[in-house]
Amino acid sequence: MAGLSVGYYAKKNGLPFTIYEANNRIGGNCITLKHGDFLFDSGAHRLHDRAPEVMKELKELLGADLNRIDIPSYIFHQRKLIDFPLSPLNLLRRLGLYTFTKAAFEVILSRLGAKRSNRNFESFALNTYGKTIADLFLLNYSEKLWGAPCNQLSSDIAGTRMRGLNLKTFLTEAIFGHKAKTEHLDGSFYYPKFGIGTISDKLAEFCGKENIIRDAKITKILHNNNRIQAVEINGNDKVDTDEVVSTLPLDYFFQVMEPKLPDEILSIAKGLRYRNMILVTFFLDRESVMEAATIYITDPDFFITRIYEPKNRSRHMSPPGQTSLVAEIPCQEENRLWNLDHDELIRLTCSQLTQTGWIEEGEIIGASVSRLHNAYPILEVGYANKVQKINAFLKVFSNLKLSGRNGRFVYAWIHDMMRFGKEINEEYINNGSGEGK
Ligand SMILES: Cc1cc2nc3c(=O)[nH]c(=O)nc-3n(C[C@H](O)[C@H](O)[C@H](O)COP(=O)(O)OP(=O)(O)OC[C@H]3O[C@@H](n4cnc5c(N)ncnc54)[C@H](O)[C@@H]3O)c2cc1C
Repeated sequence: MAGLSVGYYAKKNGLPFTIYEANNRIGGNCITLKHGDFLFDSGAHRLHDRAPEVMKELKELLGADLNRIDIPSYIFHQRKLIDFPLSPLNLLRRLGLYTFTKAAFEVILSRLGAKRSNRNFESFALNTYGKTIADLFLLNYSEKLWGAPCNQLSSDIAGTRMRGLNLKTFLTEAIFGHKAKTEHLDGSFYYPKFGIGTISDKLAEFCGKENIIRDAKITKILHNNNRIQAVEINGNDKVDTDEVVSTLPLDYFFQVMEPKLPDEILSIAKGLRYRNMILVTFFLDRESVMEAATIYITDPDFFITRIYEPKNRSRHMSPPGQTSLVAEIPCQEENRLWNLDHDELIRLTCSQLTQTGWIEEGEIIGASVSRLHNAYPILEVGYANKVQKINAFLKVFSNLKLSGRNGRFVYAWIHDMMRFGKEINEEYINNGSGEGK
């Protein structure tokens, strides 16, 4: 996705470029998969309207294929659905007066007390939301998603999603009721008619077939310690380079640099870890499961972290009268789940989903398993320092720029990928470079 964004703006600016993609399919982790007449995305995607200049471009590119969607998300907790992001009135209804009052006091005390430093996500969650909310909704979920204890995760994993639940909204909503809720309910986003992959497909179409080489895995990056001179494709072809934008995962990028870089920097890059994701999708002979964009499962007994029903993003994602449900299961390559065969994964996931009461085995007409590599960079405590050292080191290469979620090791989104692509091109134009591959 990030590479296509750089190509898109290069094409707009009339700069020559070539994109090398290891797979036959373009789009990376931002694609829409097909199973019979069903469509589903590589994870529960939504396009956030957070970068006006990018939205304008994408609206032009996708035209009538891009729709605004308004649909709430929920947390599944003890067989109940709780509004996500959390909302005080809904919490009161779902948790009962005693737990709610305790949680509310903790939130208020944590905000009114002396400012404590957030050394990691655990202390951020406790200092910001208090123990009850942190224990119920934040800590278990984050541990499942990121695969590390919360005291080893950076507070950056909170991202922007939890911004809405602040003392002001908590008190306003508790006092004035539902009115304030819409201000922080993350229920509006944009979504293409035929799935998120349309964005990648349209970007690729704009870049032009002649500028994208598929089945072209970068296997070496050849340099002379101050410039990237060439890349090796599929272990044999060598292509000379002028300017290079790498969206390769940072650890891999360092691994294939030749000559080898100093051990100190290699070991920093090796210390950056990525999280994989398994998607188990069930195709159902049933009109609909529930009105929700995404359902987050915080319970540690479930290995599923999120569920989404593609049809709720666009009715074109399922044939008439039928629907599907996608379960996200984050894991590492060394985990037992990653190494299970498809039938076993389907059996185990089905057993978890039927426990929730949302689906019944009898209505399943098919199932599929997809595996995503490098779905998220794992933002562990100290990661920012490592990335800073890497960026400082890479400045020695005068013709190199990085982009992408994995290429920059940032928790970033589609609109960020577009923004990075735009900024990179602006730098080329302003510096009078970019006449090459
Ligand atoms: C589960 C999930 C949910 C998400 N939800 C959202 C969302 O709701 N909203 C949002 O805005 N964003 C979301 N995203 C993020 C969005 O999909 C990413 O921004 C995007 O996929 C990251 O782009 P990227 O180019 O950095 O990485 P990728 O999309 O992973 O692309 C990297 C590309 O590099 C290729 N490659 C790897 N190694 C080589 C090699 N050696 N040689 C050549 N090519 C190589 C890969 O095949 C791939 O095509 C989500 C992502 C995931 C995984």
